[in-house]
Amino acid sequence: MSTSTPRDYDAVVIGAGFSGLALLHHLREIGLKTLVVDGEDGIGGTWWVNRYPGVRTDSEYSYYSFSFSKEVRDEWTWSQRYPSGPEVLEYLNFVADRLDLRKDIRLNARVDSAVYDEDANLWTVNLADGSSLTTKYLVSGMGVLSQAIYPDVPGIDTFRGEKYHTAHWPREDVDLTGKKVGLIGLGASGIQIVPVIAPQVDEFYVFQRTPNFIVETTNEGVSTEEMQYVRENYDAIYEKAANHPFGVAMEPAEFSALEVSPEKRREIFESKWNEGGFHFANECFNDLATNHESSELAAEFIRSKIREIVKDPATADLLSPKTYSFNGKRVPTGHGYYNTFNLPHVHLIDTASEPITQITEKGVKVGDTEYELDVLIFATGFDAMTGTLTHIDIRGRGGRTLREKWQEDGLKSNLGINANGFPNFFMSLGPQTPYSNLVVPIQLGAQWLQRALKWAEENGIERFEATPESEEWWAAETERTGKATVMYTEGKKAKAWFLGENVPGKAEEFQVYMGGGQVYQEHCRRAEAEGYVSFLAPAPVNA
Ligand code: NAP
Repeated sequence: MSTSTPRDYDAVVIGAGFSGLALLHHLREIGLKTLVVDGEDGIGGTWWVNRYPGVRTDSEYSYYSFSFSKEVRDEWTWSQRYPSGPEVLEYLNFVADRLDLRKDIRLNARVDSAVYDEDANLWTVNLADGSSLTTKYLVSGMGVLSQAIYPDVPGIDTFRGEKYHTAHWPREDVDLTGKKVGLIGLGASGIQIVPVIAPQVDEFYVFQRTPNFIVETTNEGVSTEEMQYVRENYDAIYEKAANHPFGVAMEPAEFSALEVSPEKRREIFESKWNEGGFHFANECFNDLATNHESSELAAEFIRSKIREIVKDPATADLLSPKTYSFNGKRVPTGHGYYNTFNLPHVHLIDTASEPITQITEKGVKVGDTEYELDVLIFATGFDAMTGTLTHIDIRGRGGRTLREKWQEDGLKSNLGINANGFPNFFMSLGPQTPYSNLVVPIQLGAQWLQRALKWAEENGIERFEATPESEEWWAAETERTGKATVMYTEGKKAKAWFLGENVPGKAEEFQVYMGGGQVYQEHCRRAEAEGYVSFLAPAPVNA
């Protein structure tokens, strides 16, 4: 390894979740002295902090895990088709132990800022405890959905009862028995918590601004034979997921919803609804994310299911999305969500027709009606993709922060991996990386970076830095592919985190690449085959 400037580490990775663990393993393998730092006091990243009741994967276990370690694959046993949050945490701790990663992970080490020194070609990472570290390579594994946000509603601090956010759920048990509970937010987090806490609480007020399309599923246990089959076929399963646009081990459908008779279409919708979860969006037809007419047929099928499950027609109607397309937002997997609204003490409050006007000492005010609560839960999401990278100061060349760069120039990166002006700073799952089951791009990204840095070290390349041309190209590609989806259907554009629409003041830009995970990987392989030229911007003359 190059030893030109003294430094504490060759590589520092921020975040000890899936990304941090994969990166640590792969960077150590090529001899880089690597340290993972994480502000929390446990390994697990998003799974460490999102401990709300009902949290579990929306992806099936067989492709929600790493494939790179035979030992981990052979020795780890999943218990459920959709593992719970605690089980995923156990898995990540098992990975850390089995691959002997802990010795290079520093917990309770929150990063305040990171500053690039052009002359030394080093990053200084400043920690909240006042200490600092120097490193040649700095990698963010901070996660795409980690910077939690609260709704922009007056009085939010005045509420006197218990208040929780799904992304910062307390470590100790929260007893909701016999309480009046309110929930704001019905994305993937909110819809998981609803059926789990409903049986515990006395009265449950679910404040809904926009309903979601939810595909229900069952959650079977994993038999010994099935687990053995997955172990023996893991490479094939993983390859299937890596070749799938959404990173799931499924066969992409081959024909359009418009090519079949209404009877056949209903039959296919029905069979994939019965398989549940992501099977419906991914396996019915090949154009549910790109053709508005096809997407609307799927939407109407789901609305019909809601009407079948929910007994009160007015509640069923309120739960049925109408303002945006099916697949216009991420489609969460439900575990008895719709059925929960048949319980007499569960009240769906429409905050689209009459918005939440205030949070008061006693509860939530919708129009003039005040709902008195003992507990208020926020499942109101994240400043996604860029939020974690812009809330701390990551200062590149000339002291400019990533926040300033993206505010002033628009969201720019080469393949979401690196940005011009930030030499040797890399992002695992940076903005403009695929909309996907994330374990797949995390692993492939760590392996891409391993090969890239090995090549750089062997060839005396001191700085990896995206060229301005590559950033322009990738921003245009991200926009072009995003606008070709139903997320952008004229008049039915989904207001969601993909476009940054959930954060007041955030510019409307595609935060994720919608062109397909497998296409993205092709672009990454091409960059590598071309000798990484799009990552080798010449340093400015007066830098
Ligand atoms: P989200 O999808 O951004 O949902 C936020 C919710 O809060 C929306 O229902 C939003 O309503 C609501 N909201 C925000 N401000 C509001 C206000 N002032 N009044 C009323 N409602 C308000 O956040 P999330 O559910 O945490 O999920 C984010 C992403 O995390 C998911 O898309 C998924 O990728 C990931 N996730 C995955 C899993 C899993 O795989 N198991 C679980 C949880 C999360 P509007 O829609 O009207 O804006």
